[in-house]
Amino acid sequence: MQANKGELNGVDAYEALVQFLYRAPIGLVQASLDGAVDMLNPMSSSLLMPLVRDGSMDNLFTVLQGVAPQLRELTENFTEPSGSVCEGLRLQLGEAATPGAAQWLSLSVLKLDPTRLMAVVTDASHEVQREQERLARRLKTAARTDALTRMPNREALLEQIQAMLARPAGASGFALLFMNCDRFRQINDALGQAAGDRLLVQIGERIRATLRPPSDRIDPNAAAGQMVARIGADEFAVLLDGLRSRDDAEKVAARLLDALARPHQLPSGQEVTCKLSMGLVWGDDASGFAGEMLRDASIAMVEAKRAADGRCTVFEAAMRERAARRADIEADLRQALIEEQLFVVYQPVVGLRPDGGTDVSAGVEALVRWQHPVRGVVPPFEFIQVAEESGLIGALGDFVLRRACRDFMQWQQDLGDHAPRLLAVNLSRAQLGQPDWPATVRGVLEENGMRPSQLQLEVTESLAAQDQQVQERLHELKALGITLALDDFGTGYSSLSSLHQLPVDTVKIDRSFVCQADTSHHHRVLIEATVKVAQSLGMSTVAEGIETEAQAAAVRDQLCAKGQGYLFSRPLTSPALLDWLRGALPRAA
Ligand code: C2E
Ligand code: MG
Ligand code: MG
Repeated sequence: MQANKGELNGVDAYEALVQFLYRAPIGLVQASLDGAVDMLNPMSSSLLMPLVRDGSMDNLFTVLQGVAPQLRELTENFTEPSGSVCEGLRLQLGEAATPGAAQWLSLSVLKLDPTRLMAVVTDASHEVQREQERLARRLKTAARTDALTRMPNREALLEQIQAMLARPAGASGFALLFMNCDRFRQINDALGQAAGDRLLVQIGERIRATLRPPSDRIDPNAAAGQMVARIGADEFAVLLDGLRSRDDAEKVAARLLDALARPHQLPSGQEVTCKLSMGLVWGDDASGFAGEMLRDASIAMVEAKRAADGRCTVFEAAMRERAARRADIEADLRQALIEEQLFVVYQPVVGLRPDGGTDVSAGVEALVRWQHPVRGVVPPFEFIQVAEESGLIGALGDFVLRRACRDFMQWQQDLGDHAPRLLAVNLSRAQLGQPDWPATVRGVLEENGMRPSQLQLEVTESLAAQDQQVQERLHELKALGITLALDDFGTGYSSLSSLHQLPVDTVKIDRSFVCQADTSHHHRVLIEATVKVAQSLGMSTVAEGIETEAQAAAVRDQLCAKGQGYLFSRPLTSPALLDWLRGALPRAA
């Protein structure tokens, strides 16, 4: 111990104190207020030495200048007679540090009295290292946790899948369930983002609760790898472990579907139903890569969604090809919209007079076609669904609407009273998702000088019977003066008894009924009942897909107001339609 000043009583006590301070594992420095060092113990010399540039440790502030330049000012500004000037200040030695020695120091400075300072210096390297490790662990957890639901996220799931794929053969079976909320975007738009977020949290909780033991199909001891994760905005995944057979996984899926089909109560009091579609991949069927297993499960989910809402589909290898084909179609369709490869054809919808006459000018239905540069003309069933799934339907639908309205007004000029009186345009669910769509329609009508009553929008049963938001938008369209037709009636789930709940003016009886109108008593009765119910509700009826005179006669007998089908005409381009109308007019009774 170097003692510049001060007198201690008793040689032994003095020696003991010197030894005590000499061996202390912390550095102690006593200095005057201007930093001039009075005394310091060996530990402080060794800790501070790397910072000493000119070999002198005379002044504390000078020694610490490089790592704690604020210290001098801090001390000057500390006007109290005594107290803590700074505490636990972390000093990084950086390049000055000696390899293997302290990398970080911790510095506390105490004002002992109006003239003296006491600095305490310790090696904080281990502490800092531990903190950094803790922080890294926290960051890693955060990077693997979904912020909204606090569930593991995609990264965490992929890691877990990879770990399970790496397990030795013969380990218990596992399966991956990929789940996507049906029409979540619409729900989110209708409820607002905050309620949408809340709903996602509740869905996550319900998934967890449904999987929780007591379980009748999972051996809880073997279920080491089980995990529920949120892997996308409205996407969840469940990794099931400890499965004895494939049935086990399918049972869990069924149980989840059941639980998730129940409505959710939001804190706001709203009740919402949000079903989920699921894709299932069995661990044994997976390739060795977690990413591929997840993709396969998502492909199966898309197939489930295409079949109907709230289903589970088990992955099969053939689905990969179908998914690739859909991706090709999507890419080509994007190009088609830019290069204007799409065009519209029109199929006449004729009036069926009870006296056997046909009113050829009753209307037309606009149907989209795609002139593909390689594949020729592609029918809509090959691309409408892809357009819906990829969001391209908005642009596609707008194109059809604009072109059809323009052509329709041109016919009025060309044919006057003999021009079609009604234009029917098919509408997709996704188009109604856009809040401003009714305004777009009004704009198109105004641009073309077309009366709203001349336009009819065709919606499918599943669409017309849908949630509040869709209903509202349909009513907005009706408020403009546009009429709505229920397309393909009889193929969906709504029945005659629920027809009155749908905001439609016309019912189009599906071809599958009409094609048997003359041969099957059962189908004839169904058509008759549909016409009667529709009439009682003030709705008109159209028989779709009439191919023979016998079918036409049969639906006419049932007092169906209009008909459409190859018997009258196939869908035609605009010029061909004009020719057909001109040719048909003299014949029409
Ligand atoms: P849809 O609205 O029910 O249209 C009637 C479909 O039946 C048309 O098929 C038409 O060509 C076909 N068809 C008409 N008469 C007969 C017949 O006598 N026999 C047979 N076998 N078929 C007949 P297309 O044009 O292939 O359209 C298929 C579906 O694609 C349409 O069914 C509609 O749901 C959808 N679609 C067509 N164009 C559009 C569009 O612009 N937008 C939207 N969202 N969907 C469209
Ligand atoms: Mg239609
Ligand atoms: Mg139809």
